[in-house]
Amino acid sequence: MLRSLFPILDHKVYDRPLVYFDNAATTQKPQPVIDALTGYYATLNSNIHRGAHYLAAQATEQYEETRRNVQRFINARNSHEIIFTRGTTESINLVASSFGQEFLKEGDEVVVSEMEHHSNIVPWQLTCERHGAKLRVLPFSDDGVLCIERLESLLNEHTRIVAVNHVSNTLGTINPIKQIVQIAHSHNIPVLVDGAQAISHMAVDVQELGCDFYCFSGHKMYAPMGVGVLYGREDLLERMPPYQGGGEMIKDVTFERTTYNDLPFKFEAGTPSVGDTMGLNAAIQFMLQTGIENIAHHEKELTDYATQELLAIDGIRIFGQAPRKTSVVSFLLGKAHPYDTGTLLDKLGIAVRTGHHCTQPIMEHYGIPGTVRASFAIYNTKEEIDTFIAALRRIAPILM
Ligand code: PMP
Repeated sequence: MLRSLFPILDHKVYDRPLVYFDNAATTQKPQPVIDALTGYYATLNSNIHRGAHYLAAQATEQYEETRRNVQRFINARNSHEIIFTRGTTESINLVASSFGQEFLKEGDEVVVSEMEHHSNIVPWQLTCERHGAKLRVLPFSDDGVLCIERLESLLNEHTRIVAVNHVSNTLGTINPIKQIVQIAHSHNIPVLVDGAQAISHMAVDVQELGCDFYCFSGHKMYAPMGVGVLYGREDLLERMPPYQGGGEMIKDVTFERTTYNDLPFKFEAGTPSVGDTMGLNAAIQFMLQTGIENIAHHEKELTDYATQELLAIDGIRIFGQAPRKTSVVSFLLGKAHPYDTGTLLDKLGIAVRTGHHCTQPIMEHYGIPGTVRASFAIYNTKEEIDTFIAALRRIAPILM
């Protein structure tokens, strides 16, 4: 059974079977991913691209093979449009910094949404500050749906880019990226998509979405921490200056003048996380073999069931009731502080996340300090949801 591929799920916490519902923070890793990582260090470890020896050649080949697999996985036109980073945060910072340097000037505007993770807000604030540009915000309605009808009126001749998430990590909302891209492109404005919470739940086709940049982290899609991806449209990447300087990203260096390497290496300064990249390759194979449709279907069943069971508990409030959602359920139990709910659940062996989930503007929208967030992955079960609901029913009288 698929669950047995994940050794950590057999572990006990406080002498109870672990119920892991913190998948939006990071997913657990299947054995083939762990094997790819340890296998790399046991048999292949060497620095890529520069070595004249066997191991370096093999490692380089597998690293570049992974790039081609990522390209196919998200249906990018070219493998040099795939840039390896440390994760979503670094991918967005790269674009905010480099795109900002090339395209932003005093009086320009950047549009983000009210439901962004701080990683898709703060890098833009930093770059806006640097260039004298302004941040504008597309709001969402109380049920957690973007007010897409307001987008058009936010765009004008000063808008340089729209940056929005594919899926909200707090509300679970799946945003209408194709529609956002169509509206933005009709004004010749490029769109960056933060795909951190989408990539493990649905098939992503960057050509179909039409977006100009797409960012995600390996660790949220069953791969190791330490590797992520930036997809960027070739013509934009070509125009953008390097983000970091160092080895690998250059063609020629003299003290007078340095010329830069071709894509994607222009944006990959220094030694990358090669072993983690091998793990990402194995994670992609795991997802394809499991079937992305099967993953989506199973997670929807779990989410519908958990939502129905939660709503049957007196005093529960769920934040994020969009018609199209992934497997994230954010809630509060009466007036109980989310941290207290999370701590008591933890003592019963149930791992959830509590707090603002790096989305303080969402908390501000609802006037709450935070939520309890349960998020499900392919290996979770209905029985685990029953355990979770029974635990909540047990702790509700203590907290409410
Ligand atoms: N965006 C979203 C929507 C996220 O959920 C996260 C992770 N919580 C990030 C960005 C940042 O991802 P990472 O920490 O892997 O860079």
